[in-house]
Amino acid sequence: MKLTSAVLLGLASLSSAAAVAAPATSPLLVIHGGAGVERGSLGPEEMQAARTALEAALRKGHEALAAGRPAMDAVTAAITVLEDDPAFNAGRGAVFTHDGRNELDAALMDGTTQRAGAVAGVHTIRNPILLARAVMEHSPHVMMVGQGAEMFAAEQQIEQVDPSYFRTEKRWRQLQRALREEAAGQAHADLETARHFGTVGAVALDAQGGLAAGTSTGGMTNKRYGRVGDSPVIGAGTWADARCAVSGTGWGEFYLRLAAAHEICARMHYLGESPAAAGEEVIVRQVPGLGGDGGAIVLSADGRAAMPFNTEGMYRGWIGVDGVPHVAIFTGEALQMPNE
Ligand code: ASP
Repeated sequence: MKLTSAVLLGLASLSSAAAVAAPATSPLLVIHGGAGVERGSLGPEEMQAARTALEAALRKGHEALAAGRPAMDAVTAAITVLEDDPAFNAGRGAVFTHDGRNELDAALMDGTTQRAGAVAGVHTIRNPILLARAVMEHSPHVMMVGQGAEMFAAEQQIEQVDPSYFRTEKRWRQLQRALREEAAGQAHADLETARHFGTVGAVALDAQGGLAAGTSTGGMTNKRYGRVGDSPVIGAGTWADARCAVSGTGWGEFYLRLAAAHEICARMHYLGESPAAAGEEVIVRQVPGLGGDGGAIVLSADGRAAMPFNTEGMYRGWIGVDGVPHVAIFTGEALQMPNE
């Protein structure tokens, strides 16, 4: 086809329109530290420690957003804080596999470019989210697993630690309990184990209107060798595009079967649902409809956010432009979301 000058003119004006900076938006960061937390399971000190850690993660992510850095930086910064904190099932404090090991998974996705990075089944990476980011930024791949991922970490000078670094007594006791329940043939042993979530995740909107999402986890207590859940699988536990970002937490097998994170964003795109309505449909209806449970955080490019969950609690929080962190753990705790 011959391009007429009118078409060429049109193209030129289109590209100059694209070059005009996107209107500044109000930055926002939303995080979770896992669904499945039960009221009886936390003492007052543990509860306070978790709240303090959530606030620290929110502040760290906010620093990045306030400095005008991209959403991806805020997501990475917040998740790194939670991975380092033993209260959560990610990095130090990760749950144990059936064989008594810690096998870590993480992923992140940039909504503006739809670039993504993920790692699964790593044993020595102090901050798996940093390795996922390296996969995205410094390899032609999206996902690397096990030994290969750890070799790539060494090449990229990502910090590696002795596997004992991840161990906490609390998680070890949880595994022992799960093993006892299993040995006793308890009918719902899997369900019981599944309650110990604690995965961490973040979604952010930056001042340029860009979105990003990330998730990091030790998976589920008593998982079998090689089991990979939803968290590092793009579209299942983690998703971001130009209009929507989601990080999930819950019984990963069900999130995988529903492509839950992508499903929430697809409902927003195609059905015009709000983050709250799309999140509610997938997390409170579809996931339990198949027999699973959990939660998610959802953020749209126009700054609406939601934190649906169907368990007794979900560690969660958000921070806006004023830099004041808001956190909650259980159902019924008022946590007014921005523009819900
Ligand atoms: N979704 C994670 C998994 O199945 C567990 C969690 O969210 O705590 O691996």
